[in-house]
Amino acid sequence: MTVFKIWKHFKREELYECYQCARCTGSCPAMEVAPAFGPRETILKCLGLGYDQLVEDEKLWLCCTCNVCEDRCPQKIPISDLLVALRNSAALRGNIPGRLSIAIELLAKTGRSMIVHQLDEMRSHHGLAPLPPAPVDEIRQILKKTGLDAVIEF
Ligand code: SF4
Ligand code: SF4
Repeated sequence: MTVFKIWKHFKREELYECYQCARCTGSCPAMEVAPAFGPRETILKCLGLGYDQLVEDEKLWLCCTCNVCEDRCPQKIPISDLLVALRNSAALRGNIPGRLSIAIELLAKTGRSMIVHQLDEMRSHHGLAPLPPAPVDEIRQILKKTGLDAVIEF
C-alpha cells in the first residue's frame, strides 16, 4: 500500500500554532451540515488522537476547500492544506465515500460527474444549444495524472 506522507504537505509544527480561538470554525460552511466537523476540531483531533483515526472519518469529505478558515485564522494556518492532505491519505487507504467514487467513475466514463436526464430537451426549452460531447479521453488523462486511477478503478 502506498503511504501518503501527510507532514510533507502540511508542516506538523503548525498544529501547535493553533490557539483554539474557533474563528475558523465559526465561518466554516461544512459546519452547517455537520456540526461535529470543523477546522478547529480537526486540528485538535490531529493533536490529541493523531491522524489515523481522522482518515477513517467520512466527515473529512465535507470540507469544500473554500479556504474561508484559512482567511480568518489569525495565525494564518493553512488548514485546508491539512484537510486535503488528510483526504489524500484517506483515499490511499480506500476510505472514499461511495457517492464520490461513483461520481469519479462516471466522470471517467462519460466526461460528466452526474447523469441529467432529458438534458438536451431542457436546454432546448430554455433556448440553449445541446452540449458538445465531453472530451472523455482528455478527462481520463487528467484523472490519471492526479493518481486517481491508483485508488479508484475506471
Ligand atoms: S482560527 Fe486558527 S488559531 Fe483559531 S482555532 Fe482556527 S486554526 Fe486555530
Ligand atoms: S476550507 Fe473546509 S474546513 Fe475550511 S472553512 Fe472551508 S469547508 Fe470549512
